[in-house]
This record gives sequence, structure tokens and C-alpha cells, in this order.
Amino acid sequence: MGSPTANSAVKRPLPVLQLVDVQKKFGDFTAVADISLNVMEGEFLTIVGPSGSGKTTMLRMLAGMEAPSSGNITLRGEAINSLPAQRRPTCLVFQSLALFPHKTVGENIEFPLKVKKIPRAERKARALELLRMLRLPENYYGKNVMQCSGGERQRVALARAFAYDPEVLLFDEPLSALDYKLKKVLEKELKDLHRETGKTFIYITHSLEEAMVMSDRIAVMRAGRIIQVGSPEEIYAKPANEFVAEFFGEVNKFPVTLNADQDWLSTDLGCPIHLDLPAELQGTQSATVVVRPEYMQFAHSPDDFDNVIRGVVFNEYSLGSRVQYQIRCGDNSVLLENPRTFNRELARNAQVLIGWNSADAIITGA
Ligand code: ATP
Repeated sequence: MGSPTANSAVKRPLPVLQLVDVQKKFGDFTAVADISLNVMEGEFLTIVGPSGSGKTTMLRMLAGMEAPSSGNITLRGEAINSLPAQRRPTCLVFQSLALFPHKTVGENIEFPLKVKKIPRAERKARALELLRMLRLPENYYGKNVMQCSGGERQRVALARAFAYDPEVLLFDEPLSALDYKLKKVLEKELKDLHRETGKTFIYITHSLEEAMVMSDRIAVMRAGRIIQVGSPEEIYAKPANEFVAEFFGEVNKFPVTLNADQDWLSTDLGCPIHLDLPAELQGTQSATVVVRPEYMQFAHSPDDFDNVIRGVVFNEYSLGSRVQYQIRCGDNSVLLENPRTFNRELARNAQVLIGWNSADAIITGA
């Protein structure tokens, strides 16, 4: 009988890009600090973080437009630290698009093919195929690119990026200049394009929503470091710390300390909170309990949830498909969110009970 490991080996995707202890300094300032990360073949990885956290610097190092000060970047195992941008199988799509303004849509898309000396007829056939892929009419082929709308120009820039046929596409906030509705459409189209092409996408954005909609994995950056990498669900449900929890949506935060009876006492709410302390926090004296507004619920009795507190309705905010309530519990404000279909008539100043189950709370170190 053959070796069971050889026969039953699960085929795992391979890292296409590997960063090992990559650092970038500008003078004394460290923009990217010792980042190690594997980017898997065919994945859609989004890097999010506040302004100045080092996202663009990291992307520019992957594109070959900036050399790391130390550390290694490898592509399929080959070091590419000193490989110039034009010799890397990567293509960077900017927010500014960098299209040739006096050329037609077709000429813009065909540019990379012309550089590769592909014959004219073949170039045109590929450009028309890319126009279809990017949901642009074929008769846009001869249209001047400056006569296209912002969203259409974005599609032309994407078609040109695909014309390079890179192994890895790098996106530097390409949708940030577009209006909300168009952005929503293109987010989904980009995810569809990722699926259709099977290419590796690395995308940077400030926007939590964009990252959640499109990505297989999200890397959260802060002050030059990656502080958490995971699926959108992991990042949302199990944020590594308060910073990540708050970056990914509104939260209720309750600092807690262990009291003499070995209960966790919320310093904000003034009452004990029942919580299952994760192993890594066993033995600590203080922590923060984070409850997202959608896990906070109205209760009919104190037994409805693991934790129930009294409060007074202070305000109500319509969020479209959801309604958010601000409940005042002593000096503390608690946010509670319900789908609109569960909307209940609540007068301002109504006395209510609200609660949550311990399993729906996120506990982070203080
Ligand atoms: P944003 O979201 O605002 O684009 P970012 O997360 O992409 O920010 P970077 O553009 O990577 O951040 O910049 C990270 C830090 O490095 C910033 O403090 C920036 O001022 C600094 N920085 C970037 N490029 C240079 C440079 N060429 N020289 C000096 N400092 C730089």
C-alpha cells in the first residue's frame, strides 16, 4: 500500500508572494515595520488601515516602485527585492487611473499589448474581449477616453490592467473618487472579475465596507504594522483588539474589572457582567467587553439574556434597512440596532430592558 500521506495529501494553495520582516524607512521614520505576510495564489487580499498606516508604501514595495530598507519579498520563492517594476508580473491600478487622455478607449487598453508587439488584429480582438469583460459597449473602442464618465474611465483602466495579464493585480484605492452608488456597483463587479479571472488581487482601502464586500482576507494595518489578518467574518466577529473592533463598525465598549466576588464588574454600567474569559486572558484583572449594536437586544424579562440591564430610550436613528436606538443606562450610552422589520414603537424616555448573550460579546485585553 502506498503512503497514506502521499495519496491523501490535500492540495493547498501556494503563496504567490511572501514578505518576510519587510521594513521601509524614510530617513529616521519607519513607514512599514517588520511585516511578514503570505499572499496566496488567487486570493483577494485587502489591506485596510487609517491614513498614514503604511498601506501605499507596502503596495509600492510589492509593485517595485519602492525598495524595502530591510527584509525580503519573494514571488513564487524567487527574491524580487531589487527587480524593477517593469520586470515584475504585477500591475498597479491607481485612484488617478493614469490613462492617456488624448487616446481612444481601444488605444488605452491595447497599450500593454503594443509594448509586447502583439499584432494589430490580435490586439483589437483582445481589447474587445476586455471591453465585454468590463461591461463596456464594444462601440466604445473608438471613443476618446476623456468623453467617458468617471465610472467608465475606471473600467477602461481596469481593462488595461488586465491587458498586461499580470499574475498579481495591485489596487491603490481605485474607487475612492467615485460616488457612493457607482462605488457599490464596481465593488461587486471587481469581486466578480476576481472570480472570473482567478488572478491574485491585493487591494488597499480606508473603507471597511469595501474590504468586507470584496475580500477573501483582510489585513489591518496600524502605524506601519499588520495587527490582524483574517477573513472578513473573523475580523468582524473576533477582532484582535479594541482598535480593530472600532475600525470595523460602531461598538459598545464596557471596561470590566474582577471584583472581590470573582465576578466581572463593568465600570461603565456599574453591574456585574457574565463572560467567558478566553484562555489567553485567564488570570487578567481587567479587560474590555465589546458588544456590537446588532447583538444588543430588547428584553422582556431579566432572564431573557445572559446580561440584562435597565435603560431609558434617548434617541432613534433610521439607517435604512435597520433602526438604531441610543439607550441611556446611567451615565453610559448603549447602541442597539434592529432590522427595520422588528421595529417597535418606542417613545423617547421609555424605560426598557436591554441585554446580550455572553457568546455574542468580544473580550479584548484592557
Ligand atoms: P493614506 O491612506 O492616507 O494613503 P497610507 O496608509 O497609504 O495612507 P502611506 O502613504 O504608506 O500611508 O504613508 C505611511 C507614512 O509614511 C506616512 O506617515 C507618510 O507621510 C510617510 N511617507 C510615505 N512616503 C514617504 C516618502 N517618500 N518620504 C517620507 N515619508 C513618506
